[in-house]
Amino acid sequence: MGAGRRPPPARVRVAVRLRPFVDETAGANGTFCVRGLDSCSLEIANWRNHQETLKYQFDAFYGERSSQQDIYAGSVQPILRHLLEGQNASVLAYGPTGAGKTHTMLGSPEQPGVIPRALMDLLQLTREEGAEGRPWTLSVTMSYLEIYQEKVLDLLDPASGDLVIREDCRGNILIPGLTQKPITSFADFERHFLPASRNRTVGATRLNQRSSRSHAVLLVKVDQRERLAPFRQREGKLYLIDLAGSEDNRRTGNKGLRLKESGAINTSLFVLGKVVDALNQGLPRVPYRDSKLTRLLQDSLGGSAHSILIANIAPERCFYLDTVSALNFAARSKEVINRPFTNESLQLHVFAPVKLSQKEQLGPSEAKKTRGPEEEEIGNPEPPALLASASQKFSPLQKLSNMDPAMLKHLLSLDRLLGSQGTQGTPLLSTPRRERMVLMKTVEEKDLEIERLKMKQKELEAKVLAQEAVDPKEKEKLSPTMHQPLARRTVTVAKPLKKAVVIPLQLIQEQAASPNADIHILKKSRKKKLECLDGSEPLEKAEDCWELQISPELLVHGRQKILDLLNEGSARDLRSLQRIGQKKAQLIVGWRKLHGPFSQVEDLERVKVMSGKQLESFLKANILGLAAAGQHCGAS
Ligand code: ADP
Ligand code: MG
Repeated sequence: MGAGRRPPPARVRVAVRLRPFVDETAGANGTFCVRGLDSCSLEIANWRNHQETLKYQFDAFYGERSSQQDIYAGSVQPILRHLLEGQNASVLAYGPTGAGKTHTMLGSPEQPGVIPRALMDLLQLTREEGAEGRPWTLSVTMSYLEIYQEKVLDLLDPASGDLVIREDCRGNILIPGLTQKPITSFADFERHFLPASRNRTVGATRLNQRSSRSHAVLLVKVDQRERLAPFRQREGKLYLIDLAGSEDNRRTGNKGLRLKESGAINTSLFVLGKVVDALNQGLPRVPYRDSKLTRLLQDSLGGSAHSILIANIAPERCFYLDTVSALNFAARSKEVINRPFTNESLQLHVFAPVKLSQKEQLGPSEAKKTRGPEEEEIGNPEPPALLASASQKFSPLQKLSNMDPAMLKHLLSLDRLLGSQGTQGTPLLSTPRRERMVLMKTVEEKDLEIERLKMKQKELEAKVLAQEAVDPKEKEKLSPTMHQPLARRTVTVAKPLKKAVVIPLQLIQEQAASPNADIHILKKSRKKKLECLDGSEPLEKAEDCWELQISPELLVHGRQKILDLLNEGSARDLRSLQRIGQKKAQLIVGWRKLHGPFSQVEDLERVKVMSGKQLESFLKANILGLAAAGQHCGAS
């Protein structure tokens, strides 16, 4: 994603679906307790005051006559396109058991629900977007899991145990070891999904309505890879979730009006409510980690996804309290603000074919576990012909040759380094050996060209010098400031970070010309031999040198001034001397006290060349010597 740019907020959309009466006799008795008002609002009887109704407004309200297509087209289909932008999306069916969650999500062969419709459309979309000639290649994988009693169970691999949920450095949620089946057609999807769903239903009867207490999560990933530079990679995840029944499972029997009890049986569902509250209130801590479901939905609620919550409610009076509680939950969710962003990165495995049947891998052990016989059987998600033609059209060589030579050089050296360490080199460069050789040759040629250019520059410089040496009259015409022999420039080593004070030449000349001159600037000429690059005879070149000549009186005066400062100056004054810091200044004062005044400036020079430590130990030795002498005197 683009660094630093805050993505625009996207609200969690909330729809409510009221199912028709399934108990016809109850309908005949007219025991309706909820009814729709318009396409967004509904009302429900207030059980505290029968004269009143409670009104709720949502993004959408689907009445008992609404079809599966109405719900899908109105609330789900619009978010699918975000997957192709590398964003996440999620659809959650919420509500008490028997209110129509599974009907909404899965439906029946006659009335297919959100899941089959979304898969159908998504596969169609990816086929169109990933067609040859389009900028991206697309692949789709599916995973199907169940969260039951805080255990994450892989429905595509029922033998695997409880799986862990992890988060990568970019905040993406991963389940290492979770089976991912590549799907290219709806038939592929059904082949994996139907047996897994049947397994779950069998479990439900055997395990006392397990399905109403577990969350079924279908995860569909759309992976996109850009065909040309800069080879971006995008991943969009779609969660299709049939949540556990929101009723309080501690209640048994369903006769009469079931009274809502406090507390929660299903931890995940309970924490989901807390997460929604925390997000609504803008609390600093959102308890995503307190349950498996919320951890999994971390990037779907209040995170980076476009979320739609479909609260399913039933019209029967016996559902009344569960309906009120579901509506209240849905009303709270409406306030959650998501900030979708695009999960985009540069491809590492530009040319590695997308594995078809694989598991989300993190550790080597999981990787080992994932290898199954189906893997070879299924092959690549791209139709082989399409893949082959794509790889021909966008060969690795072409892509890499678009790269900046410096970057390419770095990659190649990294590749060599990795190769020397026994690994297979950078995945980007895991190209056929022959092509790699060609690339290396290109880089070498570029290097040679740079060298050639450098040589040419040197030759030109030498030519200029030669011309100057031959034509001294021309040189005379030039002012000293203008005269900048190239040879001198090339031998000058710049010392960055050091401050240099440059006195303009005019100033020196002015000083030299002043009548009260103790300092004289002498201009000397000396001859210098210049090496020629072409191997011909070295050139002799006259060079101007500037020397300072100071009068003896001024020197004596200066020395006396330094001596005075050494013997009388405070530690602070001493610091004005060159290369004398606070420590040395203090040591000099100590030295002075022990040894008396300095007799000559050269003493200072000795002090200057000593390091702080040397000076300290030197002085210490003298102090000890003196102390010993003092003791000796006292004893005698
Ligand atoms: P849940 O998954 O919430 O426990 P189900 O989806 O199993 O509820 O629905 C309970 C019953 O109601 C099922 O027999 C289902 O076919 C029926 N049902 C639910 N919603 C509708 C609907 N919109 N139209 C017709 N029948 C429905
Ligand atoms: Mg169900």
